[in-house]
Amino acid sequence: MKAYRQLDREKLLELKKELTQQFDEVKAKGLSLDMSRGKPGKDQLDLSMPMLDLVNAGSDMKCENGMDCRNYGVLDGIPEAKRLLSSMIDTDSEHVIVFGNSSLNIMFDTVSRCMLKGVLGSTPWCKLDKVKFLCPSPGYDRHFKVTEFFGIEMITVPMLPDGPDMDVVEELVSKDEAIKGIWCVPKYSNPQGYTYSDETVRRFANLKPAAKDFRIFWDNAYCVHHLYEEDQDSLLDIITECEKAGNPDLVLEFASTSKVSFPGAGVSVLAASKANLEEVKKYITTQTIGHDKINQLRHVRFFKDVEGIEEHMMKHAALIRPKFEAVLNTLDRELSGLDIGQWTKPKGGYFISFDSMEGCAKAIVAKTKEAGVVMTGAGATFPYGKDPKDSNIRIAPTLPSAQELALAAEIFVLSVKLVSVEKLLG
Ligand code: PLP
Repeated sequence: MKAYRQLDREKLLELKKELTQQFDEVKAKGLSLDMSRGKPGKDQLDLSMPMLDLVNAGSDMKCENGMDCRNYGVLDGIPEAKRLLSSMIDTDSEHVIVFGNSSLNIMFDTVSRCMLKGVLGSTPWCKLDKVKFLCPSPGYDRHFKVTEFFGIEMITVPMLPDGPDMDVVEELVSKDEAIKGIWCVPKYSNPQGYTYSDETVRRFANLKPAAKDFRIFWDNAYCVHHLYEEDQDSLLDIITECEKAGNPDLVLEFASTSKVSFPGAGVSVLAASKANLEEVKKYITTQTIGHDKINQLRHVRFFKDVEGIEEHMMKHAALIRPKFEAVLNTLDRELSGLDIGQWTKPKGGYFISFDSMEGCAKAIVAKTKEAGVVMTGAGATFPYGKDPKDSNIRIAPTLPSAQELALAAEIFVLSVKLVSVEKLLG
């Protein structure tokens, strides 16, 4: 098939008629499919069920230092959970605090503390005229919601296959004292599945921000979420790189086991320098006496160590790889050569990122919905929900079954074709 742009009007009209007929046929099936949110499938959740039997009424509830995990105590996590979660993100126990069930929650609280109390003695951000964050985009919609919630101005930075455009990042942070942070998903990024190169990580570690209270918000949500056993991306440890660069306090790293064990019932972690952790502890001691140690114990007894997590993640990969491949095969088969879209082929994470012709994404998402397929809202991957080119669509292939997914992908490509033809017809 020729690129759509090369077709004359008559051919396009013919194509539109054909595609409309196909679309009406699938629409008549009255389907209800969801490719909108990055949730694990039921079979993935089943993998972690034995964890629930490992800590029960008959279990020894003491952690390795003899503390009874049923009782109050320990603000920063039981030792074995600190070891497990720190090794998951390639750092060590000294650099972490184990939190509750959600890393997004830690990120929200962190921004909130910076607003109210500042950073290591700086002026609280809420007292400043202007606070700005850099937002590599497309990115994670909930990050952008957090900064929007606090009235922080968001500045879009282009994402490249090896990470955010660092020329832009360096230039902006070095000149503008109002820029206090940047959102990063450094490994298998949401939604493109890109991993930051070693050079990008080192450039981050060596940033010279005008604002002394600037922080990199390093959300390593997909640190162990490989799709393949052999072909895996690797990421430098930002904490070590910041130490080497003489900037140990520059980064705050977040992660969780949400998509390793149970979303909403996993364990989360904050990693940072000693000075940053001391400050966080000073404040969270007012907020909580301690997080859920029983859940920490459950996770440690189930996974044992980082090798246990890696083994477990290969079981996830076996379940979701065919789903990614089903979508990618459909995109390749149906859209290659038409010049109406581009898509990423990630080696890990939870998403495929699709870029349509400019000005088509909203219409495509609306079209798929007409045929019963819910996608993430177009624009969601940009600050304020506004994609300047109206072209990015996030595809989340993990939740539907393989059969549902095959159907949903067919509907998606049909919608892309139809909307693109309509756009070209004007
Ligand atoms: N960070 C990223 C990049 C995500 O994609 C998600 C969930 O989709 C989260 C954080 C949420 O993590 P948690 O469940 O630990 O709050």
